[in-house]
Order: sequence, then structure tokens, then C-alpha cells
Amino acid sequence: MADAQDSARTILVAGGGIAGLSAAVEAAEAGFSVVLVEREPFLGGRVARMNKYFPKLCPPQCGLEINFRRIRNNPLIQVMTMSEVEKIEGEAGNFTVAIRVRPRFVNEKCTACGKCSEAAQTSIPNLFNSGLSSVKAAYLPHEFAYPMRYVIAPEVIGTPEAKAIEAACAYGAVETDMAAKSVEVKAGAIIWATGWTPFDISAISYYGAGKYRNVVSNAVMERLASANGPFKGVISRPSDGKQVKKIAFVQCAGSRDENNLPYCSSVCCLASLKQATYLLDQEPEAEVSIFYIDVRALGRHEGFFDKVRQDKRVTLVKGKPGEITEDPQTGMVTVQVENQETGKILKDQYDLVVLAAGMVPSTAGQKIPAPAVAYDEYGFVLSNGQTQGIIGAGCNRRPADVSSTVQDATAAVLKAIQACRR
Ligand SMILES: Cc1cc2nc3c(=O)[nH]c(=O)nc-3n(C[C@H](O)[C@H](O)[C@H](O)COP(=O)(O)OP(=O)(O)OC[C@H]3O[C@@H](n4cnc5c(N)ncnc54)[C@H](O)[C@@H]3O)c2cc1C
Ligand code: SF4
Repeated sequence: MADAQDSARTILVAGGGIAGLSAAVEAAEAGFSVVLVEREPFLGGRVARMNKYFPKLCPPQCGLEINFRRIRNNPLIQVMTMSEVEKIEGEAGNFTVAIRVRPRFVNEKCTACGKCSEAAQTSIPNLFNSGLSSVKAAYLPHEFAYPMRYVIAPEVIGTPEAKAIEAACAYGAVETDMAAKSVEVKAGAIIWATGWTPFDISAISYYGAGKYRNVVSNAVMERLASANGPFKGVISRPSDGKQVKKIAFVQCAGSRDENNLPYCSSVCCLASLKQATYLLDQEPEAEVSIFYIDVRALGRHEGFFDKVRQDKRVTLVKGKPGEITEDPQTGMVTVQVENQETGKILKDQYDLVVLAAGMVPSTAGQKIPAPAVAYDEYGFVLSNGQTQGIIGAGCNRRPADVSSTVQDATAAVLKAIQACRR
């Protein structure tokens, strides 16, 4: 842990998604000590939950593993998972940060052998899979988790089951008496990279999300398509596990709408095009409909858009669906929409409807616990707050794709280094 003397050479990074990971490795490789604080038991954020990511459509491990290796090999980086910043005091060059650490109940002796999981009986919802599957109360967050270390769910702590789980570990890694703790860190600058959450699509009542099981968000679609997801990568309906053949994507679900999320999240069109390829690649008889206002696939992404729309199994319809309903008997979902180019009302049934939900900054709900940080009207962190030395990075600064997020994180490191020198 950084002490008072080297606080001016320590940068605290809150959030271990691709923005926070990039910032941590860049800062450490510039010679600064880094404390990386992540709320979840694993690093990688939303990218870790994806099936593949554009532009190369590679699996998330590709980009993440390189960063994990750089973190593993750099003694200047200290990773704190299951941790959150509670309070920030001080000024640029000399901040004092209070961090709350939740107990994992598993220490660093864990070899990820899985014996604890075999001893567990209780199942809990698998939040990594958006609750669409379950895990044992002793679990590895996912196969490529960093750190590769199990977690014991607090639900079983204090029960005989917890004792059985502890006894099953031959390495002394399970500590059922581990307690929450508070830690204080000194830092010269703070990079806030706590990312985004999907817009709550249940707010759009006429789309029925939350009510209908086969109407899902684009974030859930990533899990439905993932090999380590609830259906092992075979895209299937949450209601009954039936394999999906006919799918509809509804663009701007809540976005660019004064009543919901007035701005464009910039990546949702590409995300739906990408997700269309998930089904096209695995199902020769796939039928894909995309309902859009206009498709925002600019610059180098235009070729990808062309490739998807040239597939004969894909239909693009300019129009915003007015109503979505689900048949409780069959689980089929009906989408009603006016085709703006022909004026015709279309009504068709699908196995699954994916709502392209926008990105809400995490700071819309949970503000940075420091005085005088500035936000825009939607909760994105602005760089002109009165507290110098607290720098937003990644999607809590603006909606962006991974490569722009990485660039943003690098820029944030430069500002953080300047703040450390104040
Ligand atoms: C459906 C969908 C598909 C997408 N697909 C692609 C794609 O194919 N290619 C692409 O380039 N981009 C894609 N994106 C965009 C991509 O998800 C973002 O660019 C990326 O997630 C931004 O990373 P981030 O680190 O800013 O945020 P996040 O990924 O959200 O990471 C933030 C991290 O901070 C942690 N955190 C949150 N609050 C706290 C707290 N208080 N304290 C500590 N930690 C905290 C979170 O647990 C998380 O680990 C997609 C977006 C959507 C909506
Ligand atoms: S906690 Fe122990 S039993 Fe469980 S995976 Fe780790 S080493 Fe194996």
C-alpha cells in the first residue's frame, strides 16, 4: 500500500473495466504506483461479459488477457477487488481515499481447483449470466476470471454448509470468518473509470421488457450468445430454452427519446449488427429483422454494416415499433411497426426480440464521493469540476466503443500524472 511519502507518485483507479485496466497499466508503465479498485470479484467490466467484440469480432479474452498479463507482471499495480471508494478528501497531489473491501471468504492461496464448489449445496443466481443460470454458493465468477480465485456467497456464511466448504479446501484458502474492512490509501490523482449500466428498458412499458421473458436487452443478448453463457453459446429463448431462428432487433430502445434517454449511445447500432452475425453464423435458416431510425455505423465500421445488410437473411426496416407483445402459450413475440418508407403497418412474430438499450453512466446513480466534481445533465463526469486531480475516463465520461475508451484512459493518465506534480 502506498504510504504518505509516495502519495504524489500513486494514482488510484476506480473501476477495473477496459478503461480502468488500460489506465492502470499505462500509469504503472510510466513508473507510478497504482491502486486499482474494482467493485466486482473480477476485472474486465462489461467487455468480459461479451461474446465477441468489434471491430475484429474476437472473444473478450483476446484484449483482456494482455492487460491481465501486464498487471500480473507489474509490481507497481495493486489490485483490490470487491472494493469501493467510500470517501475522497484532499487535493491534487495529496488525496486520502477511504476504501471499503467486502469479504471474498477466499484468500490468495486459492488454486481454483473447485473442491469448495463440490462441497456447496446452495445455488444462487449467476449474475455474470444476468441471472439466467445459477451457480453454487462457492463459485468462480467465470472461466477466465482475473484474479482466478473462487468466491463464497455471503448467503451461506454462518451455516454448516460454510464449514463443509471450508473443510473441502486442501489449501487453507477458504476463510469463512473473513470480515469486511476499511482501507486508507494516499494518492496524488484519481482516475474514475466506473463505466456504464444498460438503460432500464422496463421503463418503456409498451415494449414489455421485464414482463416478457423473450424480450431482452442487448447486454443480455451477449450472454445468450456466449459459450460460457446460460445456453453454452446456442442462442436460445430464456422462457423455454428453445433455439432461436427468428430474431428482431429494436434500435434506439429508449435512446434519442426525450422521455427516456435523450442521447445516442453511439455503439448500439454496431452492437446489434454484431449480434445479428452471432445468429447468422450459427443458424443457416436464421431470419433477422432490424428496426431502426437510422443506422449509425460510421467510418471504418461502414463496411461491416454493408456486409451484414447484404446477407439475404437480414431485413432492415426503417420504423420504430409501437408495441411488442408476447403470447403466454407459445412465447412468440409480436412486433408491430409502421414502415416509414412504405407507410405500411407490419406485424410479425419472433422467437426473441432484442432491445438495443443505451448506455447510462454509472455516475448517473452513484456519484464520486468527493466534493465539487462536475457532471453533465445525464450524469457523465465532466473534466471542469473544481476538484482538480479527479479525472473521468471511459464510459462514465461518454458512451464509446472499446478502442475509444482505451484512448480516453491513456489521456486520463496524462492528466493524472500532471495532477500528481501539483
Ligand atoms: C450491447 C453492447 C455491446 C457492445 N459491444 C461492443 C463491441 O463489440 N466492441 C466495442 O468496441 N464496444 C462495444 N460496446 C461498448 C463497450 O461495452 C464499452 O466501450 C466498454 O464497456 C467501456 O469500458 P469501461 O471500462 O468504460 O466501462 P465498464 O465496462 O462498464 O467497466 C467499468 C468497471 O467499473 C466497475 N465499477 C462500477 N462502479 C464501481 C465503483 N463504484 N467502484 C469500483 N468499481 C466500479 C464495474 O464493475 C466495471 O468492472 C458495447 C456496448 C453495448 C451496450
Ligand atoms: S478455495 Fe480452495 S477448494 Fe476452492 S477452488 Fe480455491 S483452492 Fe480449491
